[in-house]
Amino acid sequence: MAKPIVCSHCNGVMQLYSGPRYNRKVAGFLIVAGVLATLFWIGAVLGVPLLLIGIYMSTAKRDLWVCKECNIGIERIELNPKTIAQE
Ligand SMILES: [Zn+2]
Repeated sequence: MAKPIVCSHCNGVMQLYSGPRYNRKVAGFLIVAGVLATLFWIGAVLGVPLLLIGIYMSTAKRDLWVCKECNIGIERIELNPKTIAQE
């Protein structure tokens, strides 16, 4: 279990919230467009990337810490050593 984080604004307890990272309608549209493109249009060259992007967008999540007192949310980003070294 994750340790609770204290809000820097009001010292309230922050709660972990996992939500979709991208708009579900956009992701769904990309999946449908990808399938249609693969079946009817110029084929898999366009359709497969669209489909993969759509699937990624529909499954990607983001973790937020949300304060129960003042409803401020901060995003939790997991950095790995490789990412830090590159920047
Ligand atoms: Zn707060």
